[in-house]
Amino acid sequence: MTDTIETLTDETVELLQALIRNQCVNDGTPESGNEDVSARLLRDELEGTGVDFQTYEPTPGRTSLVARWEGTDPDAPALCLMGHTDVVPVSPDGWDRDPFGGEVVKNANGVDEVWGRGAVDMLNLTSSMTVAFRHMITSGKRYPGDIVYFAVADEEAGGKHGAEQLVRDEWDALHCDYVLTEFGGIPMHSDQGTSILVTTAEKGVGWRRLTVKGSPGHGSAPWKTDNALVKAAEVVRRLTEYSPKPLLDERWGARVKAMGLSDDLSRRLLDPSALADALDELPPDVARYAHACCHTTFSPNVIEGGVKTNVIPDKVVLEVDIRTLPGETDEDVQQHLRAALGDAYDWVETEIIHEDASTASPTDNRLWEVLKSSMGNAYPEAAIIPSIVTGGTDSRFFRQRGVVAYGAGLLSAQVDSGEFFKRFHGHNERIDRDSLRLTTQLWLDVVEQLWAP
Ligand SMILES: [Zn+2]
Repeated sequence: MTDTIETLTDETVELLQALIRNQCVNDGTPESGNEDVSARLLRDELEGTGVDFQTYEPTPGRTSLVARWEGTDPDAPALCLMGHTDVVPVSPDGWDRDPFGGEVVKNANGVDEVWGRGAVDMLNLTSSMTVAFRHMITSGKRYPGDIVYFAVADEEAGGKHGAEQLVRDEWDALHCDYVLTEFGGIPMHSDQGTSILVTTAEKGVGWRRLTVKGSPGHGSAPWKTDNALVKAAEVVRRLTEYSPKPLLDERWGARVKAMGLSDDLSRRLLDPSALADALDELPPDVARYAHACCHTTFSPNVIEGGVKTNVIPDKVVLEVDIRTLPGETDEDVQQHLRAALGDAYDWVETEIIHEDASTASPTDNRLWEVLKSSMGNAYPEAAIIPSIVTGGTDSRFFRQRGVVAYGAGLLSAQVDSGEFFKRFHGHNERIDRDSLRLTTQLWLDVVEQLWAP
């Protein structure tokens, strides 16, 4: 078995290199991405194995691939391994290596690392899923449930040319009960032991455009005028100071435990009245992320308005990035705005830019148990922690259909979690070979156990 996993890991490394070199860079425009190149590469990887596969090209060049390895029991739950093939753009000046070279380089500790855009988001998972899926088929073993392999385009720009459309229109091909995708499996070490985060929930999007109206006038006589920019500044100030009630649910409790802090600090992080001060005692980037995990957040990010230095503006437009918690609706967003702005709420007209509810999957099911024990093979002492992420992945389209979807994978002890998060969409993105081995093994272990009696 050792030989097999080492051989499979070599294949994962090679496939990851090839996917990186394909440069499927998604800049958000329909013409970018060009995932067709990687869909063809992955199709060739499965060609001749005997599995049925199908490609979908809802937008020219934006090809996704679906393969289904049929199970022996039509009533058994189906598992989908979903990996996106696109990557985000790079700023090459910040890199020490060619971002699309796919080089294998030994680091200072003598560990092999694969370099390039997508090495952690998420071509590492896509390549390991492909290799594991192919191995499941060619090993000749049949499983009770179907195993679906989904190499999907356009995750990085929201799935319009990928998962959103295909989950809606091609459910006959994609139907499943469980999904595994990015991101998770990041070990965090503390004095209390090791915890591994698995994503079970994602925050929602409630982006709003706020138009602040005023009355035009001459800039040379501003006293007591109705200046839309002055009002907009007050709106921004109130939004920034607004502190909604935190959601301190069991996911939050598990995360606090995983941080391995002192008993006193942990207790205060779980107490709504002490939370804000307690967050201040954490390192700023940890605190910022922790805060976002248990609060609805409001970030005013765009302002447009004013026409000329000597004209008092009658209209200023603000765009606010609002991220919602599980269970919150657009009416809740509106309630938050009323509470945040107070009497200034009457100054603004609000308009929805984009709305996507938060999604969450429960953990009282077979897949969760199997993930826990599979991760336990590599980290026997670790606690597996359900977590929420502040951004969105293609999981949400499946969760909206009632499918249980988790963000998983498994990193080696080589990578410190803080360092790992920095590599997401960052410079010098790279992954060590051990993590690729652990992740390839994880998919194999999950499949072995998922339908075991
Ligand atoms: Zn990703």
